[in-house]
Amino acid sequence: MSDGAVLVTGGAGYIGSHAVLALLDAGHRVVVVDNLSTGFPFLVDPRATLVQGEIEDEALVRGAMRDHGVIAVMHFAGSIIVPESVTDPLKYYRNNTVASRSLIGSAVASGVRHFIFSSTAATYGMPEIVPVSEDSPKLPINPYGTSKLMTELMLRDVAAAHDFNYCALRYFNVAGADPQGRTGQSTAGATHLIKIAVEAAIGKRDHVTVFGTDYDTADGTGVRDYIHVSDLAAAHVDALGLLIARPGESHTLNCGYGRGYSVNEVLDAVDRVTNLKIERRYAERRLGDAGELVADNRRILETLPWRPKRDDLDGIVKDALAWERKLAEIRGE
Ligand code: UDP
Repeated sequence: MSDGAVLVTGGAGYIGSHAVLALLDAGHRVVVVDNLSTGFPFLVDPRATLVQGEIEDEALVRGAMRDHGVIAVMHFAGSIIVPESVTDPLKYYRNNTVASRSLIGSAVASGVRHFIFSSTAATYGMPEIVPVSEDSPKLPINPYGTSKLMTELMLRDVAAAHDFNYCALRYFNVAGADPQGRTGQSTAGATHLIKIAVEAAIGKRDHVTVFGTDYDTADGTGVRDYIHVSDLAAAHVDALGLLIARPGESHTLNCGYGRGYSVNEVLDAVDRVTNLKIERRYAERRLGDAGELVADNRRILETLPWRPKRDDLDGIVKDALAWERKLAEIRGE
C-alpha cells in the first residue's frame, strides 16, 4: 500500500491490465496511459483512471503524474511482435526505445523516482547456457530485443545520474489469464503458442503449426519457460515495494519458473485440458527462434518475496481457454 499513485503505461493491454488488477488488489491507486492502439478500455478495471494518449506526449504524461500524485511508473506499452521488428525496425526503435526515453524523461522531470520496466528474454538472443542467468551475454538477435535492451541501458544511466531507481523484469513466455476472468489476451492476430492453441480449441482455427522439429531438445520442438500472467503481475507489485523500500538500489530480474516445456508438451496439455485432439502440422523452424529459452530464476527468488503460485502448465492453459471463451462471448462470436 502506498499513498502515491502508480502510472501504468499499456495498462489496457495484456500484461499491463493484469498488473493494474494486481496493483489495485494490493491497495495502490492506478492511472493508466494507453493509446489504445492494441489495448482495449474494457480490459482496464474501472477502479483505475484511464488516460488515452501517447507516452511520448510529455505534457500529457507530466500532467497525469502531477494530477494523480504519481510516485512510480510501470512501463508496459510497446510493440512486441518479433518478426515485425525485423521488417520494420524503426517502428520498434520509435515505440520501444524513443518512447521510453520520453517517458523516463517525464518521470525524472516530475520527480517520479521509481520505474519498473517490461523487458524480455529476447535481450539474451540465443544463449549458450540454459537456464539463462541475468549476467549472460546480452546479444539480441532481432530489433525487438535490441530496442528493449537499449531502454535497460538508458535506465541504468539515468539511475546513476538522478534520484531514481528501477527494476527491469525480463519476461520469458507469458501466458494464461486472470483466474477470476477479469482480463486476458485480447489482441487480434495472435502469434503466441498457447493463445493460438486455445483459439484452435474453441474452433477459431483448424490446426496449430509446430515450427521446427529438429531443435536440439528432447522431442526436437522448441522449449520455453511459460509463466502465468498473474504470477508475473504479482512480481511487479513486489518489485515496486522493493524500489520504494530501498531507493539506492536497482535490479534486473528474470521472470520465469525455471522449467521448460516443448511445443509438443504444451499441445499435449491443451489436448488434455480440452479433451480434444487438435491437429498439429509440423513445419520448418520460424525465423529467429531460439531452440531453448528457460530462466535461471534464482535471482528473483533471492531478491523479492515473490513466489510462483500458478506454476502449472495445465492451469495456465485452463485460464487461457476460459478467457478465450469469454472473449468470444463478449465479441458475440
Ligand atoms: N510456436 C509454434 N507454433 C506457433 C507459435 C509458436 O510451434 O503457432 C513455437 C515457437 O517456435 C516457440 C514456442 O512455440 O518454440 C513459443 O513461441 P511463442 O511465439 O509463443 O513465443 P516466443 O518464444 O517466440 O516469444
